[in-house]
Amino acid sequence: MLDILAYLPAKRKTSSSGWVSFNAPCCPHNGENQDRRSRGGLKLSDEGWSFHCFNCGYTASFILGRNLSYKARKLLSWLNVPQEEIERINLESLKHKSIAGLLSERQQVSNELQGIRFEEREIAMGELLSEENTLELDYLRARCVPMDYPYMRQLLPTGRDSIIIPFTYNHSIVGHCRRYLDNRTPKYINDIQPGYVFGTDLQNDAWNYVLVMEGVFDALSISGLAVLHAEINDAQVRLIRSLGREVVVVPDQDAAGMKLVDRAVELGWSVSMPEWPGCKDVNDAVIKYGRLATLITILDSRDRSKIKIELRKKQILKQ
Ligand SMILES: [Zn+2]
Repeated sequence: MLDILAYLPAKRKTSSSGWVSFNAPCCPHNGENQDRRSRGGLKLSDEGWSFHCFNCGYTASFILGRNLSYKARKLLSWLNVPQEEIERINLESLKHKSIAGLLSERQQVSNELQGIRFEEREIAMGELLSEENTLELDYLRARCVPMDYPYMRQLLPTGRDSIIIPFTYNHSIVGHCRRYLDNRTPKYINDIQPGYVFGTDLQNDAWNYVLVMEGVFDALSISGLAVLHAEINDAQVRLIRSLGREVVVVPDQDAAGMKLVDRAVELGWSVSMPEWPGCKDVNDAVIKYGRLATLITILDSRDRSKIKIELRKKQILKQ
């Protein structure tokens, strides 16, 4: 298997979240100046790697068992990987072509046919968090979200500290959520494309369930999906269905969250409203009880019975 790290520039840094940053090789090929601020980020996974350039916005990824994409080939050639080596990697990868890989390729084709597609978006002046960004890192740790997500900050001199959570779809950036860290409003600013659901890239092929929540921190803290408001529109329903899992909606335990419950019942999806005293949403529960305990209570409390769901809803509204 290709050791892609061997082809990266010698000057590089690995962050605690596993991102390797180095001067991106892509920018001059995309009409930008040569990157001199290590704005290329590469992350290895069990099955391959993904690359984001936070200067010119170029992205590419590779998954073992798949064909090398056009963008991945270009990236490798900009990293001076010889052409015959690129061909060898492709052949080698296809030897690993698995049923899972074939199924997920078919899934991608079917999503394209259904019109589930998002355009790539740039995060202007965005930069991956580094060790020095202690304010941002402390905030994320306090919210008990996985630290290996590519969180960013912006280099704009606005004076308000914020964290940017890139929204990805098939590992390309298609929007973002900005969470300001002071107590002023607005707390959040989102760049969301219609029909987008956050968290599809956090799902594992082996899982039977997919948890659907409202907020991005809820989704991050338990590897679920976020619909990003207290409703689920039809395009989002199509995208969630395309995952082919049993859907469990976990609403915020407040009046607005109950709108999500009504919609879930309408769609015939399960709903889970565990008893978490003092917790308003999944992220609160993860902070209080931990990720595993929260997950267990969610799966234990899931229900499809309209009567039971209505009763629990009334209880919550009284609280
Ligand atoms: Zn670039």
